[in-house]
Order: sequence, then structure tokens, then C-alpha cells
Amino acid sequence: MKRSSNAVLKVVPETRQRISVAQPIFNAREKEYVDRCMTTGWISSAGEYIEKFEKGFAKHTEASNAVACFNGTVALHLALLAKGVTQGDEVIVPSLTYIATANVVKYCGATPVFVDCEADTWNIDVRAIEEKITPKTKGIIVVHLYGAPVDMDPVLAIAKKHSLFVVEDAAQAHGTKYKGKPVGAIGDMGTYSFFGNKIITTGEGGMVVTNSGDLNSHMRLARNQGMSPEKRYWFDVIGYNYRMTNLQAAVGCAQLEAIEWHLRRRREVANSYREQLKDLPEALTLPVEKSYGNHCYWMFTVLVNEGSKVGRDELMRLLDKDGIETRPIFYPMYMMPPYAEAAEKYPVAGSVGTRGVSLPTHGGLESDDLSYICERIRFHCKGE
Ligand SMILES: *Cc1c(COP(=O)(O)O)cnc(C)c1O
Repeated sequence: MKRSSNAVLKVVPETRQRISVAQPIFNAREKEYVDRCMTTGWISSAGEYIEKFEKGFAKHTEASNAVACFNGTVALHLALLAKGVTQGDEVIVPSLTYIATANVVKYCGATPVFVDCEADTWNIDVRAIEEKITPKTKGIIVVHLYGAPVDMDPVLAIAKKHSLFVVEDAAQAHGTKYKGKPVGAIGDMGTYSFFGNKIITTGEGGMVVTNSGDLNSHMRLARNQGMSPEKRYWFDVIGYNYRMTNLQAAVGCAQLEAIEWHLRRRREVANSYREQLKDLPEALTLPVEKSYGNHCYWMFTVLVNEGSKVGRDELMRLLDKDGIETRPIFYPMYMMPPYAEAAEKYPVAGSVGTRGVSLPTHGGLESDDLSYICERIRFHCKGE
């Protein structure tokens, strides 16, 4: 069905399929590689694709080592274990993130200490980190939120001054660059997720990248129940079963071969939103791209402003009726019962957290879909 830009659509056209907020995209390669696992019988956590995926991902992130694991949460856990985070320690974490970033600190028996976010990037407020450092602080986890790079140089300077480690949670940032360098191995370690809605996917899956040989060995040991690499079924330490399967890695290898396509498509989607929504500044704040890096647009997330006819929640409800799926930005950690704290301590995260909404962002969106989404947003926010 053809739509003209001034037509006011009250209902979803019958021919239009629901537009999902995220969507994995595969080609024949994924099937071919998975089929090979099936026919050879290598379906568990040994097999050719695991090493191939690790090597390929290390190359993609310009890191010396990459350790594949079962998901992005255990990737973060492996990173903290490798740094020996334990009971009584504190780890600095942004207040606006996915819950896994905070939970892994708890898995180690340590305490996450939250920092408010920046008003423009929504990433950890780098200027507010130092005041949260205590003698118990062991490290900092930064999150490249929605694919926007954190300003890493000042973070690294603070870490150096106070002898802290830096872990980059790059679960949403495949392809994000900081000053020309892929994120991940800029700090001590960087973690990635390959969940179904991430930029490339293995269903569930994760990876830790690092330039440190010691951290690499430590994580490989912890991932494999602590089994000695020299002596099979000999365990010197207590580890975990955090291994990735060859099936996951087979999908990962195929996805990685196409990653430049995935990234290019996302940038096209973001450019299209930016172009079509740029003249609604009173109603919507669009994501920023700072001069120090490249956004990878895992999600194109906007803030709904005072100048919009409807608030964030109402906009989401109306778009849902139009057949357009969206998602709210993350709820700040202080709102969650396990991490409850006074709202006054996180004013920026509080405001962003109630105004942010992620629009459909994936490689399967056609220009027709994007015009339709923008037309509906314009109508709800401005009545035009
Ligand atoms: C997705 C995600 C994770 C966790 O990854 P899973 O693979 O779902 O375990 C961690 N941190 C952030 C910021 C994420 O977006």
C-alpha cells in the first residue's frame, strides 16, 4: 500500500506486517555451517568453529585474544573473575545500563557503585567517576550504551591514577570505534553479547577480548571448569562451565563474515531516522555522535521532550497500535528493587530513563518502513 506523507492513517494498513524493534538476519552461510556441525557430530564445545570465531572476532576488534563463552553476562563474569573481584570489593558501574552489568559484580560477592550518566551520550558520566572511588574500589565497568562510544581516555587516566582495572561492556557495540580503534580491547578487557537482538547473533553467546595473555589464560581456565590445559580431568581451581558450543560458533562465523553489511545497514537506518526526524527538536532529542568516535547504532534511541504532544509511554502505546514495536530505554539501576537508592543521586539517568525510547533498528527495515515509522511519530508528537 502506498502512503503519501500527509495522509493520516488511523489504523495499520492491512497489508502491512508488524514492524519489530529488532530482528536477526541470516543468509545461506549460517545454515551451511550449522549443517556441517550436524553432519560431523561436532555440536558441543569442541570443534573447528569455536577457534575460528575467536580468531575472527579478535581480528575484528584488533585484540590479541578473544575468549568465546555462553552469553554476554558470563563474559562479564569471566572478566571480573580474571581480575579477582571478590567479597568486600567495589566496582564502578553506570546507573543506566542493562541489569547484567550490575549483576555480575554481585555474582563475585562485590558491590556495584553506580554513577549517573551524561546528558547527551547517556553513557557513564566520566567526570563523576572519581568521587565514587574508595579504598575498596577495584575497577570500573563502562558500557558503550546503544553503541555510542564512552570517552575512554579520561576513564583510562582515572584508572591508572587509582590502579583500577577497566572492563568495557561492549555488548551493544560491535563495530563501535573510539578515536579510530574498535572498542573492547582499549581497557583491560571488553565483553560482547551475541543474543538474538544484538548486532550479530549466535542465539545466545558472548566473547571477551583482551590484549593480556595472562587474563586470556585465566578466562580460558575459568570457562572450562578450571581444568588444567596440560592434564585432562585435573582441576587446580574451581571454574565454571561457560563454554560456547560449536553450533553457536558456526552461526557466529557466518554472521561475522557479514558484519560489515550488518553495520552498514544499521548506519543507513540511523541516517534515515536522523534525516526524517531532524526538524522535530522540541519534541524529540536524537542520539549524538561525538567527534571522538563512531556510533554503531545497535538501537536508534530518542528522548521524548516537553514539546511533544504525548509523553514517552503514550507514544509507545500509539506506535504499538500502528503496528510498530518499540522499547523503553533501560530503567536506571536505582529504580530496581535489588539496587534501590534515592532518585536524587541520579537526576540525569532518572530523566533519560523516563523519556527514552528505542525505535526499530535492524538490517531488515526498508525505506518504506522507515518513512511509515517517522510519519507516525511526527503525527503523534506534533499532530502534523
Ligand atoms: C545484552 C547485554 C548484556 C548481556 O548479554 P547476554 O548475552 O544477554 O547475557 C550485558 N550488557 C549489556 C549492556 C547488554 O546489552
